[in-house]
Formats: sequence, C-alpha cells, structure tokens
Amino acid sequence: MTQIQALVVEEPNHISWITKELDVGAGDEILVAPKAVGLCGTDLEIISGAIDPDYISYPIALGHEWCGIVLGDGPLRGTLVAVEGIIPCWRCDACRSGETNLCETYQEIGFTRDGAAATLISVPRSLVHPLAESVTIEQGCLIEPCAVVYRALARAHPGVNQSVLVVGDGTIALLAAHLLALFSPARIDMLGLRKAQNSLASLAGAASFFTDPAEVEREYDLVIEAAGSAASVATAISKVRRGGSVLLLGLAGTGKEVPLEIDEVVNGDLKIFGSFSYSSLAYSQVVKLLNSSLIAPEFVITHRFGIAEWERAIETLRFANGARGKVILELDAQTPN
Ligand SMILES: [Zn+2]
Ligand SMILES: [Zn+2]
Repeated sequence: MTQIQALVVEEPNHISWITKELDVGAGDEILVAPKAVGLCGTDLEIISGAIDPDYISYPIALGHEWCGIVLGDGPLRGTLVAVEGIIPCWRCDACRSGETNLCETYQEIGFTRDGAAATLISVPRSLVHPLAESVTIEQGCLIEPCAVVYRALARAHPGVNQSVLVVGDGTIALLAAHLLALFSPARIDMLGLRKAQNSLASLAGAASFFTDPAEVEREYDLVIEAAGSAASVATAISKVRRGGSVLLLGLAGTGKEVPLEIDEVVNGDLKIFGSFSYSSLAYSQVVKLLNSSLIAPEFVITHRFGIAEWERAIETLRFANGARGKVILELDAQTPN
C-alpha cells in the first residue's frame, strides 16, 4: 500500500493535510505527481457541505483542476500531462452518444475519488493527455475549467459577428470571455459585481466592463450567465434580444429558484441552455487548443500559494479584496508537516 499526503475533506467543515493511502481505481492506471491545483467555488462547496450530495463522496482529497508529471517507467515518464476528471463508463446511452458528462455511473476525480491536492495521484491511463513542451504548469491546471466553458459554448454555438454579454466576473466568466474569441463574435461585454475585476475583464477580451445592470442595453445575441446566482440569471434573461440565446453556466446552489416571466421567454422567442461539466470531446479539444497556443488562459491566475499555505489559499478564495481570478496551489514547494 502506497502512503501519500493529501488535502482531505473528511466531512463538511473538517479539512486537513494528512497522510493516507493512495486511492487506486480498478482499471489500467498510471501514477502522476501533481504540480499545480486550481481551487474554485465548487471546492468551497465541498468543504462547507453545500454541494449537492449526489455529486460527492466524503472523505475526499480536493483537486479537480490540475496537471502533473507522469512517474513510472512508461513512455510518458517525465511528461507534463492533464487528466480528464470525469471517468465515464463508456457503456451507457449517454456515453455511447458522446455525452460523457451525462454518464449514469461515472466517477470523478476530486468528487467521488481522490483529487490532486496531494503528493501523488493514480489516474486511468486512457484519460491522460500529454501537453506540448510550450504549455506551462499554470496553463495546464486551467484545462478543466476551460473544458467546462468550451463545452457550454459549443452547445450554444455563438455565431460569427454576434454580440455577447457575459454576466459574472469570476474565473468562469473570465474564461468564457477569453474562449468566446474562438467564435469570432463582433463584441464581448461583461457585467460583473466588483469594479476591481475591470483589468481582468479587459485581459479576457471584454470591450466594456459594467457593474450596473441599468447601464446595459437589452440587445445581445447571446448572454452567458456565469455568476451562479438567482439575481444574475434574471439579469441575463433581461439583457438578451428577441430571438437570442441565454446560456446558464453558473451553479447557484441546491434548491435556488428564479422567478421567470413566461411571456418574456415566449414573446422573446428565447433559447435557454444549461450546460453541465464537460464531455470527453470538449476536454480533448481544449488540450488541442492549448497545445497549439490558440488559447492563453493563464491571465486568469492572480493568486499562487505553496501547498503548505493551503489555509491561506482557501481564505483568499473566500474573501480576497482587489482583483481576483484563479487561486492555485503549487506542489513544487515543500509540503506541510
Ligand atoms: Zn472547479
Ligand atoms: Zn456512461
């Protein structure tokens, strides 16, 4: 039995860096040494217990946005790799139609089996993607959130020369603005909550960054809700033109509802999409885009901590002042005692 050290949520509100046994799956697996792990709002929900219990198994090592170096004697030894987090069954109807994000019996790294905030992780060999030499560790740990966004955009398929509004100013909203450029829109604007995010919105490619919904016209071909609150869903629906589309990307929390004016949707001839997680195809496509230097999402990283500083990293994710994008944990640094 291999012993590792990992950042484990034993149960809601009980998190610590502990020594534990390596979590190894049943199939053909490969060992990877994680190099960087991105944290996100979902990790906070795992820590607090706010996450829908259907999607999580405690105790769990955190870390679903990551990349690392392959260990062992195989051909990938020493290669920087990213690893799909969703482990589909490949046999159910959803998997057979390519919708692996809807697999009926999937496992997921960082949710139902141990994540990568650890000294070592074992992963299914078939889900490992080698990264090009030009790809940095910081870029690699952004593939997972980029895949979530890319899958959603592919579903809403923004047309060339469309105008797009992104509601939200967190990492997913910023990555949505960045990846939208692949679809050649005429204009990307963002509507956020915090003025401090202005410079990040500009780096993401937003032409205008608003914080007051009253300043934003109802004129967009596509509005992407990436803030994950009932109020911002209502705002998103109120800013789309007739015949336009609304894409819901943000999770608002179990049980949250939003009032919907039915006639606004019918008379407005609106299309409303949700998008859950990412398919295996979307993940592979993001890896290709990054390996070809067609995307450069690293602008979104604003805070870096060594793994020994994991408590500060989580506090920063909860309460940072000023501009805040992605918070990452680096595993090069010495590990906590
Ligand atoms: Zn995440
Ligand atoms: Zn399946």
